[in-house]
Amino acid sequence: MLPVRFRKFWVAKGTNVGTMRIGLDFDNTIVSYDHVFHMVAVDHGLIDPAVPASKVAIRDHMRRTGNEDAWTELQGYVYGKRMADASAFPGVVEFLRHARDSAITVYIISHKTRYPFAGPRYDLHQAAEAWIESTLVDEGGALICRDNISFYEGKDEKISRVGALECDVFVDDLPEILTAPGFPDGTRRILFDPDRYHAPLPGIQSIVHWKDIRSHITVMERRGLGG
Ligand SMILES: [Mg+2]
Repeated sequence: MLPVRFRKFWVAKGTNVGTMRIGLDFDNTIVSYDHVFHMVAVDHGLIDPAVPASKVAIRDHMRRTGNEDAWTELQGYVYGKRMADASAFPGVVEFLRHARDSAITVYIISHKTRYPFAGPRYDLHQAAEAWIESTLVDEGGALICRDNISFYEGKDEKISRVGALECDVFVDDLPEILTAPGFPDGTRRILFDPDRYHAPLPGIQSIVHWKDIRSHITVMERRGLGG
């Protein structure tokens, strides 16, 4: 594997053959749980339907109303048993198709415990893999190669993997991942912040929609990876 600074010269002029490597977080970056959390929490009488259909709003509401334990268990249930009801954020599938057609290599590098902290022992990695298999597909088959998908129990392992794969770009919804001390210097950081929850952070590009990731990366492709 050539270092990034050399790899950019392998992007042939006038063709779409590239060697860009893009790493993606999974939970709350590729997958939106807002509607499934709302549906399940209402069905179980944990929230009033008037609480906004947002994972963060539901979490905050349940914490405020003394339902922290129920919130913990609800997460295991949603990420395990109800994973099939979660949806991809708008623009994810289109982005992955663009990546495949542009010969951009995409990796999913996720930090996710295998089993929930509370409640029944659903295999959360298996649930996530099944979701990827059924959701991140088109008529041409899987949009991400199975070998390019990894789930790690710890944040440090996840961040090491971003470095080991020499990702040119990494997209995550959590600033603490992108600003972690071990985060590789050579990887551009994109914060996916659809609800504009975070204040601007130095050195981090913040975007609210997947189509913005696509246009950001297209600019990098045009300029070469050093763009
Ligand atoms: Mg995430």
